Amino acid sequence: MKVNILGAPVDRVDMEGALHFVEKAITENKPKHIITLNAEIIYQAQSETELMEIINQADLVTPDGAGVVWASKELGNPVPERVTGIDLLQEIAKKANATGWRLFFFGAAPGVAAEAAEKLKESYSNINIVGTHHGFIKTQADEDQLLQQISEAKPHILLVALGAPRQEYWIKKHKEKLGIPVNIGVGGSFDVISGRIDRAPKWMQKVQLEWLYRLIKEPTRFKRMLALPKFMGLVKKSTKKS
Ligand code: UDP
Repeated sequence: MKVNILGAPVDRVDMEGALHFVEKAITENKPKHIITLNAEIIYQAQSETELMEIINQADLVTPDGAGVVWASKELGNPVPERVTGIDLLQEIAKKANATGWRLFFFGAAPGVAAEAAEKLKESYSNINIVGTHHGFIKTQADEDQLLQQISEAKPHILLVALGAPRQEYWIKKHKEKLGIPVNIGVGGSFDVISGRIDRAPKWMQKVQLEWLYRLIKEPTRFKRMLALPKFMGLVKKSTKKS
């Protein structure tokens, strides 16, 4: 079941459904692309055909963010809950601790992915993180070396934290050749898990104000967030048409 938000098909899944998808993808062993989609990216895709294509070709698109939850209600086809990249990563870590799934962390500034891996090991002593790499690749040689490192590590799940939509383009480009069953873009998650950036308190997440917390912590996000009212305007307009 999906809800079409301005041309972007969002799966009406909750966290349990998303985890079930991951489990199945690992069993099937064919490369799958999971996007945790927020309103900013849907808005950007309105004028970026290639991005809209990638969203439409993704194997699972989860509702990430208050804007997407709001839009699904507005369109009369509500999603059950937010399934954000960081929450999905935390749940995967928990499950990987029990199942032995191999994880690879790619992205964020040098050292951050490794720190995030260390932090998760403190909570999940059996977790198998088979490799980490920063996300600032400059040359083709660096990229070739990274692809080789990932291939040799043979993860079940590749977590790509380059920010959206850079990570979506990266996954699209490399997914088939790498052949890893689960590929997920997780934005700034490693910054938070490593402890370099605080996440909004639980109560703010619950009342859909996580975006406000992020804005206060990182005021440079302001420009990006201007997309949200524009996104809401387009959704309103589309409900009037139908
Ligand atoms: N990043 C990266 N390579 C780049 C540009 C950005 O690894 O070339 C990382 C950056 O260090 C940060 C993440 O991508 O960890 C982007 O985080 P942001 O919170 O902006 O992403 P969002 O969650 O909003 O998609």
